[in-house]
Amino acid sequence: MSTLFGKFFTKPRPPGDGVSEIGFPTNVHHEFHVRKNEETGQLEGLPPPWLKLLNAQLTRKEQNANPGAAIQAIKYYNYSIKKKQNGTFKTLVTEEAIKEESEEIEKILGQNKDRALSEDKEASSSKKEAVTPPLPIKKEKPPVPPRKPAQLTYQHRNEERKQTDDALDEALKILTFDEDSIHPEIGNAPCHTESDSPVLRKKEIVTQKMTDEEVFAELRRICHPGDPYRRFERSKELGAGASGTVFIATDILKNQRVAVKDIDLSKQPRKELILTEIRVMKEFNHENLVNFLDAYLIHDHLWVIMELLDGGPLTDVVTETVMKEKQIAAVCKEVLKAINFLHLKGIIHRDIKSDNVLLGMDGTVKVTDFGFCANIVGDEKRQTMVGTPYWMAPEVVTRKQYGKKVDIWSLGIMAIEMIEGEPPYLKETPLRALYLIAAIGRPTVPRWASLSPEFQNFLDRCLQVDVEKRASADELLNHPFLKNCMELGSLTPLIRAAQKILQKAL
Ligand code: ATP
Ligand code: MG
Repeated sequence: MSTLFGKFFTKPRPPGDGVSEIGFPTNVHHEFHVRKNEETGQLEGLPPPWLKLLNAQLTRKEQNANPGAAIQAIKYYNYSIKKKQNGTFKTLVTEEAIKEESEEIEKILGQNKDRALSEDKEASSSKKEAVTPPLPIKKEKPPVPPRKPAQLTYQHRNEERKQTDDALDEALKILTFDEDSIHPEIGNAPCHTESDSPVLRKKEIVTQKMTDEEVFAELRRICHPGDPYRRFERSKELGAGASGTVFIATDILKNQRVAVKDIDLSKQPRKELILTEIRVMKEFNHENLVNFLDAYLIHDHLWVIMELLDGGPLTDVVTETVMKEKQIAAVCKEVLKAINFLHLKGIIHRDIKSDNVLLGMDGTVKVTDFGFCANIVGDEKRQTMVGTPYWMAPEVVTRKQYGKKVDIWSLGIMAIEMIEGEPPYLKETPLRALYLIAAIGRPTVPRWASLSPEFQNFLDRCLQVDVEKRASADELLNHPFLKNCMELGSLTPLIRAAQKILQKAL
């Protein structure tokens, strides 16, 4: 069988060329024919743009040490970029959705799951040595630097992200090859084609689309019918995300401040998904979630009214201040309550990180962005990847046994942010970070020795590469580390200090 991408990836293997084929630990399709050239140490059989990117960002030693992780990283990376380019609406994530997504990745990469599994089995039994590559040689880490002056640290983090974005942008240029020019038959081929290559339908054809008129009619029905301009007094803008802008407004009716997310539906390719989203969000209510309050439709703009968290994101606190262990425990407990609630409802957050934990000035801790996040097609640099990789569990990259527990791993990484001020590998480009997550697994925590045994054990339970061994939200809520939390009010001085430094008080 030759697949669309298989054709592109497969390189005929010249006899006796000094290369050895590598069996990969996971379901990488055999048709990749990825080989390591024994003389040059170079991975062969990958599309040239992929190789170029791998060579630019991973040393030969790293590729050699863990070729499986290198392939997984570039595969996931390439998929993420493609997905972003297609423009998606981040809906509530369920185990079912993840399964579909994994199938989509395989489709994109021209893989046949069943064959891959059986061939991988074959490969793993016949090439046992090659399947378990040694861990990469770890780079010598410089001694833990003392935390930098606050202002500097924040700029530093932003700068790192900017550099990362620039690297991504550069990578995009390399990776954006025109699919249709390589496979003009995609979506256009007649059904009675002679070729045995599977013809992939274009996404828009597969999706049973509602017409825009139908979507708007339904939205009008479920949104609040009144005029939002009469009810809300718009004030300060909080920022702009992928989906539009968020601003503060005063609800005159209830005499309270709210946050309003303004989504421009004309820029949203999959408007129908928003309907489901609003329906579900209306049902969701938890003290540790940034709750949805109402929705209004004004022409083609959707206003999502949410609770306002006036203390800003946890990121500001972790980058600017040093948190005490008992404060970290308090935040973990609140976030875990939200995760547990979502998991009980069958929802996986998939993007737990300090940026998505918002604080109230009184120390309230609430999780946001668990849905209702429209990623609109655009050329903003930060949109080039589906999620930031730094908080990703290894099984997200390798897509094995992928489910609810990804949120627990991310919580562990967020706990590291609260200890160190940033997640592991933040200074690395996203592709390198993906590789390191897949190759190294559990990251090291520089300040490990200074942590209490309870905290060390809590991190141990979160950061298990083996999903079976990783704790569930429910188990962690009973962990001894959370038995000794400081009051949430103790976070207020930290929030104030961070806001002062960043000149961000609302
Ligand atoms: P993404 O599009 O990936 O979600 P983002 O979180 O930066 O990116 P938005 O969700 O649009 O973008 O949020 C924009 C800004 O508004 C962020 O700084 C966010 O912290 C802030 N914000 C969002 N919701 C609230 C809220 N309910 N209360 C206070 N601030 C909020
Ligand atoms: Mg957001």
